[in-house]
Amino acid sequence: MRAAELAERIPGAKLFGEKWKGCCPAHQDLRPSLTFKDGDKCILMKCFAGCALDEICQALGLRPSDLFFDALDSDPQRRRAAAQQRERKVREVAAERQTRGRRIDALREADYFVRAREGLDISQWTHQKLDDELNVLADAYALLSSEAHAA
Ligand SMILES: [Zn+2]
Repeated sequence: MRAAELAERIPGAKLFGEKWKGCCPAHQDLRPSLTFKDGDKCILMKCFAGCALDEICQALGLRPSDLFFDALDSDPQRRRAAAQQRERKVREVAAERQTRGRRIDALREADYFVRAREGLDISQWTHQKLDDELNVLADAYALLSSEAHAA
């Protein structure tokens, strides 16, 4: 699934740049506190009121694994091609940031995090493992977006 598809399920979802904001389905959300966007491997989603990813997925009738782009793609060649494309994009972003002389520690960390998981077969993961991984990704994303604001 992609962020644009997820947006169809989120009340009041609006696109700001490449990031979506909308009302969190897991709590009584009067001002949009859910933010999500396409990451490198999956949709990165965070409720700033503190709802767990699992709760949000449950409220949407989704499994955390549905947030991965390749969740339904069983062709290993296509998965590898998609992984390489994401790898390139991560490098482009890293290079661009470096050129601008900005602090890239957080990005490097996110980059490493993504690379370390290249080629993993998530179909063998437990529900808990997926949930943990996605929570780490969501935190990395929150860190990156807070750094973008500070810069
Ligand atoms: Zn929430």
